[in-house]
Amino acid sequence: MSSDQTWKEKYFQELESAEQREEQWKAERNSLERMLVRTSLASEGQAPELDRLLDRVRSDLRKRKVDVKSWRELQEQIDRQVALLDEAPARSDQNHPWPPAGTRAEPEAADKAGALDSVAVESHHSQRLWIARRVGHLLGHLLGQVSLEAGAERQARSLQKALLASDNWDELRDGLNQVADLVVVAVTRSQREFEAFLIRLDERLQVLQEHFLVQCSAQTGREDAAETLDRNIREEIEQVSLHIDAMDDIHGLKRSVSSHLEYIGQAVGRFRLEEAEREQMLCEQLKSMQEKVAVMEAHSEQMQGQVRKERERAMTDLLTQLPNREGWQERLSFEFNRWKRYQYPLTVGVLDIDLFKRVNDSYGHKAGDRVLQLVAKELMTRLRNTDFVARYGGEEFVLLFPETSPEDAKAVMDKLRTHISALPFHFGGEPVTITYSAGLAAFTPGDTEELVFERADRALYVAKDAGRNCVRIGQPAV
Ligand code: GH3
Ligand code: MG
Ligand code: MG
Repeated sequence: MSSDQTWKEKYFQELESAEQREEQWKAERNSLERMLVRTSLASEGQAPELDRLLDRVRSDLRKRKVDVKSWRELQEQIDRQVALLDEAPARSDQNHPWPPAGTRAEPEAADKAGALDSVAVESHHSQRLWIARRVGHLLGHLLGQVSLEAGAERQARSLQKALLASDNWDELRDGLNQVADLVVVAVTRSQREFEAFLIRLDERLQVLQEHFLVQCSAQTGREDAAETLDRNIREEIEQVSLHIDAMDDIHGLKRSVSSHLEYIGQAVGRFRLEEAEREQMLCEQLKSMQEKVAVMEAHSEQMQGQVRKERERAMTDLLTQLPNREGWQERLSFEFNRWKRYQYPLTVGVLDIDLFKRVNDSYGHKAGDRVLQLVAKELMTRLRNTDFVARYGGEEFVLLFPETSPEDAKAVMDKLRTHISALPFHFGGEPVTITYSAGLAAFTPGDTEELVFERADRALYVAKDAGRNCVRIGQPAV
């Protein structure tokens, strides 16, 4: 992912800066070492033992085997030698002339030393002062290049001042001793600190990287927040880079990096918090959506049920509870399509109650309704499940006999007719016989729904003409 990519680039830049910083530190160390070599050379010619010790300092530096512990011992030995030098005038240069003739910086002073003690002492004194001043300058240089803790820094500054200005040898001697300490402290401290700083930086960057890897693989719904976070962090890392470039002071740098990393940490913390809130909100939204969906589903089911009922009602005849003309039309189309596809026999019947007007007229409309209901019930219960019957209107019923020839259908209709005619209707105490006439027609190739219906209807009138209470089959016109 791209944010991961840029982050990695930043990380490598940081490492590069760190390496540069280490390079710089090495350069500082080299210059410190060179200064130490020069200082030791400048101090030479005081006493053979001291020269030997100083030579060891240079040799250690050359071989890069600066061991703090052995150097402390070395320093103590040097201290002792310097202390001996302080007593030197009393022992006199006459007995132990040093350095050997020709190697001394001020030969004329040495040559005359035996004759003029006071001159030798004076010369010795000025040479010491010269060394002290030189060390003072070098110390100033050192302070410009490395940083020390506030206390050590103060100590080094006053030491430098003393070395540059004081004429008091005791004070200068102590000061010179302290310089070596300070150099060791400065060298070991800056190295340790810088290493610790790099380790810390690396650890924190590692944590950040891990966090971003996780973030990057997470969902993308939080792009805005993630973008803001990414921008914040990028800016902070840029700031860190700028500071690293601009600062020489390792403490300032450390503080700066820490505060930037702190800021990044806070930004990440905020982002996580906001994300938790977002998640919580989404969770609640989801819950309420689920509830709404459940309500809607229930509502929808209810509506579907209602629609189904409405539809059934719209297709059902109120008086007889049989399908009505709409129901008939629908079923006729369905069976017609099946017939077209499978070509099994399909017979249509039209049934009309005989002289029904008389029932109404003689016994009232209610009695007529009752007859319609009873006939409907008989039709419904006595026909096969696969057969279909509907009230077409008035005292007319229509029937569908799938997979049934007109002859078979006629047999069924005749049987039903006989059955109904035998039903014991009683109106006003009188037994009344109900009969019907019916016409049947089978679908034949090329037929339409209308054509077959008309044929059956014509057959019904043939039956009526034939004297009613009978069933006729309508033949297709040849
Ligand atoms: P046909 O044998 O020739 O069919 O004689 P019919 O009397 O049955 O025929 P007609 O068409 O002359 O009369 C049908 C009667 O059926 C007329 C009408 O009053 C009656 N009728 C139609 N619908 C209903 C109904 O829903 N209830 C009642 N009670 N009578 C109805
Ligand atoms: Mg009729
Ligand atoms: Mg009738």
